Amino acid sequence: MSQMWKNTVGYMKKAAGACGLEDDAIAALLLCKRSVEFQIPVRMDNGKVNYYTGYRVIHNDALGLSGDGTRITAGLTCDEVKALALVMSIKHAANGIPAGGAKGGIDADPSLLSEGEFERLVRGYIRGMIPKGYNVDVPGADINTSPKTQAWMLDEYEQVTGIHSPGAINDKPGLLGGSLGGEDATGRGMYVLTQEICKERGWLPEDVTIAVQGFGNVGSNYARYLAEAGFKVVAASDIKGGTFDPEGLDVGRLLEYTESTGTVAGFPDGSSITNEDLLTCECHILAPSAVQDVITEKNASNIKARVIMEGANGPVTAEADEILYGRGIAVMPDVVANAGSAIVCHYERSQSAMNDYWELEKVQTRLDRQILKSYTAMRETALGLGTSFRTAAWVNGIKRIVEAMRWRGLL
Ligand code: NAD
Repeated sequence: MSQMWKNTVGYMKKAAGACGLEDDAIAALLLCKRSVEFQIPVRMDNGKVNYYTGYRVIHNDALGLSGDGTRITAGLTCDEVKALALVMSIKHAANGIPAGGAKGGIDADPSLLSEGEFERLVRGYIRGMIPKGYNVDVPGADINTSPKTQAWMLDEYEQVTGIHSPGAINDKPGLLGGSLGGEDATGRGMYVLTQEICKERGWLPEDVTIAVQGFGNVGSNYARYLAEAGFKVVAASDIKGGTFDPEGLDVGRLLEYTESTGTVAGFPDGSSITNEDLLTCECHILAPSAVQDVITEKNASNIKARVIMEGANGPVTAEADEILYGRGIAVMPDVVANAGSAIVCHYERSQSAMNDYWELEKVQTRLDRQILKSYTAMRETALGLGTSFRTAAWVNGIKRIVEAMRWRGLL
């Protein structure tokens, strides 16, 4: 059993206990509605055919069509995909999105494939991923997928069905029906939440120090929004290493530097810091925005930040979560903190269905409002039940799913 599935079951059971959910409902929520494993044959450039394993899991679609990302990573397992799909159900539900949770992916290392092999793999994934389509299950992007892969997926889907269906695939390029404001939605949502938390605590942006682990889509956009608003980003890192300046990094220059070198490591205006040290550095807010399970029972007692903003999915293990809660450190859970992209994916589906595309301002105004609404609901539940923010967000999500299941006669 993967650490991620263990964490997910732990969070579910804790939230279910906090809101007095019956055992049969808990058991039903821990089941996945459909879980498909399939083989994707890919003609390699050398003429041979390689087979790759693909997965698509629909956890629950009582609230609406299921949807979310596709990750292409070596060693991906069905267990990991199931955990991610369940978390998506909670994320959609806790943010008022009328959608269920799904996730998919391929066990493959894209760095070992040529562009042509990668395209054939992605197109093969869509042919194998059944059922699919708007109103059924809508794959979006995740690790190693991007607007380019989503465009291939859309084209493959439309070639197979013979029907133009922009709503069948999410995170596509704008020209093919993607939403404005989708690319940086997660970083923006985290920034809006940061502003709100700081306002509540009476922290002025210029006094607030923030360390960001991971400088990809999530981390770099979060850092950019923070810097534009006058917050001090004191540390940033990626897989190759990190950079640190207690007075605040020049994020604009750091973005230029990473654009030209492909990494934050070696940034000349900061001193170097390891990923481990970044997690325990002196700062007000720590934003683990790279990979799962980086804050564990081993380092949770050494965290100095007062707030953790979960940019990544599952960066804090269940054991560490307990320690942090005991120490009074506020963890803004992934299901709310990084929901920006899930929220804009919902807007993307709506726009594609109507074939009517919104201005950036409308997307961002609605996104900001939804993040604040989700935060307020989570805080009220946490105060009412005396739980952590994470448990509160899961309670809010679970309640909506269970209610939808009851209406449908599924419980
Ligand atoms: P990305 O591929 O654009 O960037 C990942 C970053 O993390 C890179 O800078 C990479 O070098 C770094 N990294 C990878 N492994 C690392 C390690 N072991 N230690 C330190 N840094 C490491 O990915 P992303 O889209 O920014 O996603 C990051 C995380 O956020 C993932 O967990 C993803 O599931 C989650 N997430 C992403 C979105 C989104 O909108 N992109 C939304 C919700 C959640």
